[in-house]
Amino acid sequence: MLWHMTNIASPKPTESEHAPLPAYSVVVPVYNEIDTLDELLTRLTSTLEGTGASYEIILVDDGSTDGSTEHLKTLAAQDANLHVIVFSRNFGQSPALYAGFSRARGGYVAMLDADLQNYPEDIPLLFAKLDEGYDMVSGWRSQRKDSLFRTGASRILNRYIARSTKVALHDYGCALKAFRREMVVHMLSLTHRCRYLPVDAAALGGRVAEVEVRHDERSHGTSKYGLVKLIRTAFDLVTSISAAPLQFIGLLGWAFAAVGFFMSIWVAYVRLTQGDINTMGSVVAIFFFLSGCQLVATGLLCEYVGRIYIEVQAKPYYVIREETER
Ligand code: UDP
Ligand code: MG
Repeated sequence: MLWHMTNIASPKPTESEHAPLPAYSVVVPVYNEIDTLDELLTRLTSTLEGTGASYEIILVDDGSTDGSTEHLKTLAAQDANLHVIVFSRNFGQSPALYAGFSRARGGYVAMLDADLQNYPEDIPLLFAKLDEGYDMVSGWRSQRKDSLFRTGASRILNRYIARSTKVALHDYGCALKAFRREMVVHMLSLTHRCRYLPVDAAALGGRVAEVEVRHDERSHGTSKYGLVKLIRTAFDLVTSISAAPLQFIGLLGWAFAAVGFFMSIWVAYVRLTQGDINTMGSVVAIFFFLSGCQLVATGLLCEYVGRIYIEVQAKPYYVIREETER
C-alpha cells in the first residue's frame, strides 16, 4: 500500500513534466456514495466532454466502507481521465478536497459533492464566470433543497460571515465552486486548517464572484453531517474567520462592570438621601462589578490568545498579483 503521509498544512501541487496539463480539473470528495458514483461520473464526463477541452476528474475516497473505494479503482482503470486518491481512514470533507487540489493540474479547478445535490451540468457556468477574469466563483443555491433547519441555520451563518469578512456572498457553503489555478496554489500554501474558501480567496486578493446554481435533494444515502457535526462545523467556521468571539468577552466585562458601578452610585445615593441601607442592592452591585472585573481580565487574556491565534494561522502578509520584469 502506498502511504502519502501528507501534512495538509503544506501540500505541494504536483506538476508532471511529461503529460500535457489538462484545461480543467474537477475534485470530488467521496465518503460512502456507492449508489450515486455511476450517475455522477456519467453526467460529469459528458459535461466535461461537452466543453471540448481536456480535463481530469480527481475522486478522493475519504475512508469509504461501502465498496466505493473498489468501484472507483475499477472505473479509474478504464478511464485515463479519472484519478483516484484513497485515504487510509475517514479524515473529513475538507482534507479530501485539499488532497484533491494538491493533485489538480488543470488551469481551472472545480469542486462538487458526490451525492448529486449539485448538478455537474452547472460546472461550465462557473468556468464561464472565471473566463470573465474572476479568480474564484462560488455557487449560490438560490433554491436550496435541504431541511428547513439547515437552510435557516445557514442563512444566519451566511449573514454573519458576510458582515464579519466583508466578502459579499449569499451562500458560502455551496460545495460547487471553481478556482483559477493560481488561486488553488495560494490556498494550498495557507497553513491554517479550518479553511473557508471564499473568505480565504478574498483575503488573498482574489476576485470572487457568485453564480446561481441548481440544487437537488439527496436521492441516495444520508447526509454525512449529523447535528453534532453540523454544530462543530458552524463553531469552527465562526472562530476561524476572526477572533471577534474572543474579543466579545472583554466587551461583556466592561458592560458588567459599568452596571455594577452605576448600581453602587445608586445605593450610595439612597443611603445618603434616605438613610436606608439597601443590602440587596449592594450585593448585586458588588456582584456585577466584581464579575465585570473578572471578565475584563479574561478578555485581556483573550486579546493575547486571539493574537496568537491570528499569528499561528500564518496568513500571508501580502500577495503580489503581478510585477513588471526587471
Ligand atoms: N464527505 C467526505 N467526508 C466526510 C463527509 C462527507 O468526503 O467525512 C463528502 C460526501 O461524500 C459528499 C460531500 O462530502 O460528497 C458532502 O457530504 P454530504 O452530502 O453528506 O453533506 P451535506 O450535503 O449534507 O452538507
Ligand atoms: Mg449532500
